[in-house]
Amino acid sequence: MLKLQRADLFREAAYVGGEWSTGNGHTWVPVHNPATGAQLGRVPSLTRANVEEAIASANAAFAQYRQWTGKARGAVLLKWASLMLEHKNDLAQIMTAEQGKPLREAQGEIDYAVSFLEWFGEEAKRVYGDTIPAPRGNQRITVIRQPVGVCAAITPWNFPSGMVTRKVAPALAAGCTVVLKPAPQTPFSALALCVLAEEAGLPKGALSVVTGDAVEIGAALIESETVRKLSFTGSTAVGKKLMAACAGTVKKVSLELGGNAPFIVFDDANLDQAVQGAIASKFRNAGQTCVCANRFLVQAGIHDAFVERLTQAVREMRMGHGTEDGVTLGPLIDDAALRKVERLVADARSKGASVHAGGERHPAGPSFYAPTVLTDVTDTMSITQEEIFGPVVAVTRFTDEAEALTLANATRYGLAAYFYTSDLNRSIRVTEALDFGIVGVNEGAISTEVAPFGGVKESGFGKEGSRYGIDEYSERKYVCLGNVA
Ligand code: NAP
Repeated sequence: MLKLQRADLFREAAYVGGEWSTGNGHTWVPVHNPATGAQLGRVPSLTRANVEEAIASANAAFAQYRQWTGKARGAVLLKWASLMLEHKNDLAQIMTAEQGKPLREAQGEIDYAVSFLEWFGEEAKRVYGDTIPAPRGNQRITVIRQPVGVCAAITPWNFPSGMVTRKVAPALAAGCTVVLKPAPQTPFSALALCVLAEEAGLPKGALSVVTGDAVEIGAALIESETVRKLSFTGSTAVGKKLMAACAGTVKKVSLELGGNAPFIVFDDANLDQAVQGAIASKFRNAGQTCVCANRFLVQAGIHDAFVERLTQAVREMRMGHGTEDGVTLGPLIDDAALRKVERLVADARSKGASVHAGGERHPAGPSFYAPTVLTDVTDTMSITQEEIFGPVVAVTRFTDEAEALTLANATRYGLAAYFYTSDLNRSIRVTEALDFGIVGVNEGAISTEVAPFGGVKESGFGKEGSRYGIDEYSERKYVCLGNVA
């Protein structure tokens, strides 16, 4: 059982137009604790009519909310941020219970989620337009920025709070209103945020969180002519379907999709930094992040030393339930995730990969997979083609820079890439040659609210965070004032 200081943060109800809703009252979605498999609670499966109600109330709220000054909108976001910090421990407990990540990581995610409220709380005042010198003397040309309108947001389970505020904060800062569908595995974090948003003074209808069947809710959001924008974070497969469906109403779309990040270690790398960066990039959230290093490409001269040091560090990790002291790695989200990792490791082994650590389930519970190090990995193995989304390091040896770049770019994804080198010229050359939206040079932890997060190729488009993030939620309107006397 959850022991919260504020028990009312845990809601088994959706949040529709500023009211807590149980939908039709008899269709529910169970939510499980991935560390134990036990049921944590349930949320209502809303009907299409409930979702339409959320959209209608977002539209009604938009008419008022768009008139607020940026300063007033920012003040609500900043207040919301301070309430999240005040209740950080409760929010982290809820997250660990539904998602599985260690409590310290969950607390770190609450800070990350808060950082978007703070950043966009400040940016709300800076939605600047332009003045443009007109070609005719009697004209004045300006560009004003206006909110897109009602936005739909669909978020995944790996960052149950961070992905919510990364979308909702810029939308609300710009003057939009939002209907959000959280992942079914982790709805309680999003719902807890609604309790605090309401306390921060967010008007009714400005944010709804709708729970239930993804296809039904997705269709209601996407087919709606009122919803003008979809922001989706999730798999490339689902992103493609949603993008196609959004053509029906020509919605503005941002997609933060899957990744297949290369992590390149050159012979001239600082070994300590490379191992530390590898751990940071690979094992956060038990390997379940879209920017996790997926393919380790290690140059022949440093290969054995890197593998030895990394294997040693991996053996020292403590896997267990996220609420236990000292635990650094939690479970995978569910059985399907566990079976996927098993399949990828089995395929790699059958094609010649060697296991240095792990390579099997972990006894801590039903969804735990032991931290694993594989070498002799080749590009014929599925593990280099698919997102692993688990605590598995897959190492491929290479001989020179050209080979490393060819291997690194040989993917349809383009989200994050990392490399380690002490050669300045190489750092510039390789950065420019990598076909990815984010590059970490001698750095394995790259997520921050101040920088633009987003991919290229089949990892999607649109930036989240940073001064560019608010662009996704505002339109530029060109105004031509003529016949100026
Ligand atoms: P997913 O299966 O694509 O699901 C993401 C969300 O979309 C869930 O809420 C899901 O609900 C919903 N969904 C699925 N089908 C839908 C439909 N037809 N209409 C509307 N909504 C639908 O992805 P996931 O397994 O939860 O998340 C992991 C993926 O997200 C990975 O590929 C990861 O790389 C990516 N990710 C990307 C970023 C980034 O910023 N680029 C960040 C985090 C994660 P249901 O589960 O109910 O189907």
